Amino acid sequence: MSAYVFHFGGGARNDDPRAKDKTITGGKGANLAEMAGIGLPVPPGFTISTEVCAQYNTAGKQFDADIKAGVAAGLAHIESATGRVFGDAANPLLVSVRSGARVSMPGMMDTVLNLGLNDVTVEGLAADSGDARFAWDSYRRFIQMYSDVVLGVDHHRFEDALEIAKEDNGYYADVEMSAENWQKLVGEYKAIVAEELGRPFPQDVHEQLWGAIGAVFDSWESERAKVYRKLNDIPADWGTAVNVQAMVFGNMGDTSATGVAFTRDPATGEKAYYGEWLVNAQGEDVVAGIRTPQYLTKAARERAGAKPLSMEEAMPQAYAELAAVFELLEKHYRDMQDIEFTVEKNKLWMLQTRSGKRTAKAALKMAVDMVGEGLIDEATAIARVDPMALDQLLHPTLDPQAPRDVLAKGLPASPGAASGAVVFDADTAQARAERGDSVILVRVETSPEDIHGMHAAKGILTARGGMTSHAAVVARGMGRPCVSGASGLSIDMASRKARIGNREVAEGDLITLDGSTGEIMAGEVPMVEPELVGDFATLMVWADKHRRMKVRTNAETPLDCQVARQFGAEGIGLCRTEHMFFEAGRISAVRQMILAEDEAGRRAALAKLLPEQRADFIAIFDVMAGLPVTIRLLDPPLHEFLPHGDAEFEELAEVTGLGVDHLKRRAGELHEFNPMLGHRGCRLGITFPEIYEMQAQAIFEAAVEVALKSGEAVVPEVMIPLVATKKELQILRALVDRVAAQVFADKGKTLDYLVGTMIELPRAALMAGEIAEEGTFFSFGTNDLTQTTLGVSRDDAARFLNPYVDQGIYPRDPFVSLDIEGVGQLVELAAERGRKTRPDIKLGICGEHGGDPASIAFCEKVGLDYVSASPYRVPIARLAAAQAALKA
Ligand code: ADP
Ligand code: MG
Ligand code: MG
Repeated sequence: MSAYVFHFGGGARNDDPRAKDKTITGGKGANLAEMAGIGLPVPPGFTISTEVCAQYNTAGKQFDADIKAGVAAGLAHIESATGRVFGDAANPLLVSVRSGARVSMPGMMDTVLNLGLNDVTVEGLAADSGDARFAWDSYRRFIQMYSDVVLGVDHHRFEDALEIAKEDNGYYADVEMSAENWQKLVGEYKAIVAEELGRPFPQDVHEQLWGAIGAVFDSWESERAKVYRKLNDIPADWGTAVNVQAMVFGNMGDTSATGVAFTRDPATGEKAYYGEWLVNAQGEDVVAGIRTPQYLTKAARERAGAKPLSMEEAMPQAYAELAAVFELLEKHYRDMQDIEFTVEKNKLWMLQTRSGKRTAKAALKMAVDMVGEGLIDEATAIARVDPMALDQLLHPTLDPQAPRDVLAKGLPASPGAASGAVVFDADTAQARAERGDSVILVRVETSPEDIHGMHAAKGILTARGGMTSHAAVVARGMGRPCVSGASGLSIDMASRKARIGNREVAEGDLITLDGSTGEIMAGEVPMVEPELVGDFATLMVWADKHRRMKVRTNAETPLDCQVARQFGAEGIGLCRTEHMFFEAGRISAVRQMILAEDEAGRRAALAKLLPEQRADFIAIFDVMAGLPVTIRLLDPPLHEFLPHGDAEFEELAEVTGLGVDHLKRRAGELHEFNPMLGHRGCRLGITFPEIYEMQAQAIFEAAVEVALKSGEAVVPEVMIPLVATKKELQILRALVDRVAAQVFADKGKTLDYLVGTMIELPRAALMAGEIAEEGTFFSFGTNDLTQTTLGVSRDDAARFLNPYVDQGIYPRDPFVSLDIEGVGQLVELAAERGRKTRPDIKLGICGEHGGDPASIAFCEKVGLDYVSASPYRVPIARLAAAQAALKA
């Protein structure tokens, strides 16, 4: 037997651990082997390993003799388990060919069902099953699927032919088609294929099989798959496996069915079976949205007020068997399972199981519930929740008090709320989102080709499809609110208009979706701020218990500080002072300061700013109530504050009494060719010490005032930006110390404080040992450190960074996720050298990376004391820090 082909089901013994290893047999194959192994009814089959995918795609799309022999042996296994023979005229074996990567990937080839049918075997299937209608129905499905996914014939041609056939016969639904009708349609389908391809539909069953296997491997390199891989950080070398499995038939009449189910509600996390099924149907019928699926349980049907019987009511025996499987699988996998099954003449068959995708809310509830049920421990619960998914819960939701102008209602397919302009196709969604618009993608139904548009959209609305439709599943995975199956929605692509309920909505009109209720509303509905309560709060408490690093926030307004504290921030890692300079009423004093001809002029302007800055810091120290606050002295190049346009210059001329021409000349003098590397950061403090003096004075006066008022210790951490040399820090530290001493003497109160530096230049990282002699803390400013190490300006990178990531030059945008290989080395080295000089040096990170889970894991590894993230990312950082500590 080939080392690359693994048998499952039908009593196949498989002790090879590779058979159940997702990296080898893919998620689908590994779980089929696992289910068969614990005695569940799985149709027999075999899996060709993911390793063959890479071989095939590099070896000129060829299969070697070993694989050919492996597939032949696999077929023999299915034949002996089923007692059927592939290609046999009287007793034909039919198989499905299914893709399956390590993680489920919408970009991969669609499954081909009923493979092995041809003009001869169809007669055998008809005779053997005693059901000619079923046999010809299966054959027409097979021709359509195979032609569409393997041969590349547009499926619309087949759908149109079916529509015409029904019209000609005066039928309304597919079920009215007779055996003869299907047989005639098969003839038409074959003619379509011959016309499109210039050769007949393949009758040789082995040719069919190898065509499908090759198509699965080809699909790994499809554009769709590549887009999905990029969005989800899936490496290109993983490859997909191919599963070939005996068919079982859900389309053999009213005792047969097919369905999908979750062991718990994937939207809310509620411990209740949840799913959809269809009588007398096959495969994708449930998710394709062609027929409206029925509810799985009686309770769900009654809650929805639906008429068609639930599976629990219509097939009590098969349902009871299924429920027992749910219980067994949850205990076995210790996680919520997403299941696909088929019932053939009252016999249940399991076709797939995997850990189910879930919303952030459901992930939290399930994790917390399962700890309560004793199914998992706290550490596992922490590992279960994707920190980035919490983002969904950290965004505003619709204000329950706000009036809602409800146009129509669909299914609440993915929770959360979104407002945006209506767009009708994925490309438009992407284009408008790139221009900064919020858009809602409105489609009849979505398909994998729409992925980029779904990603770009704030919310998704479809007319068709149930809770397990493509739109619903993908939206939940992406954390986009989604309303699916809105029967009150119709779209006219020609005029680019839709009717929602009884109103017309044109492309570009604003609507609001509530993915938790299914409501579609006109206009923009106001939102309210999120709160950290319930399961979310519980998991955060566990995370805090298991993490080592502190989590601070980057904030500079009292409001941001308040939000961050509510989300659990334990201090401020970066308080930028320049934003304070822009405030109305101050900017003209700032401009006066910048444009002053001499020190005296600057000091006069700074004197006006001092009380304002002091008030800022008082407000921040008040909110932070004794928690550490790192304040960065002025950093940006001064010309960023200069007036723009004549009106602003005229206004400034009036305030300062200086002429417009004079001001313009001074502004011109401040122009820089390369401001990122120009007169900024501590260079401002070195050349205009009075600026930093004013800021230090404001900080210490505020700290003393708040300390006296509150009785709490206030320990300001004064941070000097863009230091490259020890000498810079030495000079500026002396300045800060001098001002502090002066303030303490004046106020008769002394406080502890720290002076430290940002490490954001490669030279600073290299010289960290020396620099640590002057500073008691380092904060890694990884935004600038990335710019200066890569020699890439963040503001100019948009033009080339995407192609760079596409070609794998950088695995991810290095401004989003730290370039651990490169920039990471500098961080590691600076931490090491800093600690050598000053063993108790405080180390933190304050770049954007402080809120990125992968970067946080790196910070844990290097042993930083804290990470600092923007307020809404604080819970993400808390969870990521706990996961990192647990992994360490
Ligand atoms: P996907 O990865 O898109 O879910 P699957 O390979 O799971 O694709 O196939 C989709 C559906 O096709 C399954 O849910 C099942 O209903 C049907 N199917 C696949 N293989 C078989 C089979 N051997 N017998 C019957 N139905 C099958
Ligand atoms: Mg599936
Ligand atoms: Mg910087």
